Amino acid sequence: MLILVLNAGSSSLKYQLINVETAEVKASGLCERIGIDGVMKHEIAEHRKLEIDQPMPTHKEAIEFVLNILTHDDTKVIETIDEIKAIGHRIVHGGEYFKKSVLITPDVIRKIEELIPLAPLHNPAHLLGIRICKQLLPDKPNVAVFDTAFHQTMPEENYLYAVPHEDYLEHHLRKYGFHGTSHYYVSNEAIKMLNKRDTKVIVCHLGNGSSMCAVKDGKSIDTTMGLTPLEGLVMGTRSGDIDAGVIPYLMDRKGMSPDEIIDYLNKKSGILGVSGISSDLREVLKAAEDGDHRSKVCIEMMSNRIKKYLCSYIGLLGGVDAICFTAGIGENADVIREKACAGLEFLGIEIDKRKNKKRESGNREINKDDAPIKIYVIPTNEEYVIARDTYNLVKKD
Ligand code: AMP
Repeated sequence: MLILVLNAGSSSLKYQLINVETAEVKASGLCERIGIDGVMKHEIAEHRKLEIDQPMPTHKEAIEFVLNILTHDDTKVIETIDEIKAIGHRIVHGGEYFKKSVLITPDVIRKIEELIPLAPLHNPAHLLGIRICKQLLPDKPNVAVFDTAFHQTMPEENYLYAVPHEDYLEHHLRKYGFHGTSHYYVSNEAIKMLNKRDTKVIVCHLGNGSSMCAVKDGKSIDTTMGLTPLEGLVMGTRSGDIDAGVIPYLMDRKGMSPDEIIDYLNKKSGILGVSGISSDLREVLKAAEDGDHRSKVCIEMMSNRIKKYLCSYIGLLGGVDAICFTAGIGENADVIREKACAGLEFLGIEIDKRKNKKRESGNREINKDDAPIKIYVIPTNEEYVIARDTYNLVKKD
């Protein structure tokens, strides 16, 4: 069964056409600069890459163009749109309503709308994607897969903030966590690799956005992102954990408005802010090698923040069987993996430097052979989880 997976952002649209039975990706791509001029990067089954300038005044033209490129001329991977059986939508915020993926009904749309104050940039774009699919492909079922759903198993003491309780009750102020689809996929792969019952796993999803998750017996019990994706680790352009007192201090000293502060903490901080070079870790690693002091400090800060959460999650879980690294940095940056684990040998966390440096695809083990705790690199595959959830819900229906 072919499933179209869509991730609609405010000016972008990511897509994959997946054969869910074989996990084959028939085509994938990214439409960018929607509403500006429009550029599409399209890849056919990992063999052929194209970059096309295509006017995309709105998301409607972008989705129409995706459907067209999949079915026409030399980019054709399917004969007709009829071969697509359903559409799986990535939705950032499901609040407390959604603990798992669901078929999209008018009630689901209403709830995603209601959650806009919690995800003001993302949920409106997702709703747009859903509405256009319903318009262009009226016979196809649509499924919503939420980034927050996996973390809905967190216990109260871990998801509440230590603020007056009325604000949780009245304003839904709490930790939700994100990257849930990735944390679910990676922890599940780790549990299969561990091949045991009663598992304690820590997932480090380290990409441009980064978060960690403590997973006990397959369920999230804590995660580093919070009400918004700003909390936790040092990320590409986000500060991660910070004293809330920084906000009024900066407002006073620099005359910044609330919107400017949010922009500062979300878009100008993290790797970009500390290094002053780039939000792309590759460039910062290169600068550090060339002796740049701020880049060196940035790498240490990122690694120490991961290490602090590793230790606190080992405490919460009462031990750990496996630590998993995933996403752009987690899968590729051996330096960050090595530094995050360094000094934790006394806990049984012993990275094998040779295995860590080796570049391999697929799931792999990078701990020393006789170490008690497994350290895995597991490439994430959120799109496959979205396709599989969509398939399962459509089949049941
Ligand atoms: P993602 O958001 O998962 O695509 O991850 C993006 C991040 O991964 C960026 O900071 C990249 O610099 C980083 N990244 C990708 N490839 C590498 C690599 N080979 N070495 C170090 N960092 C990498």
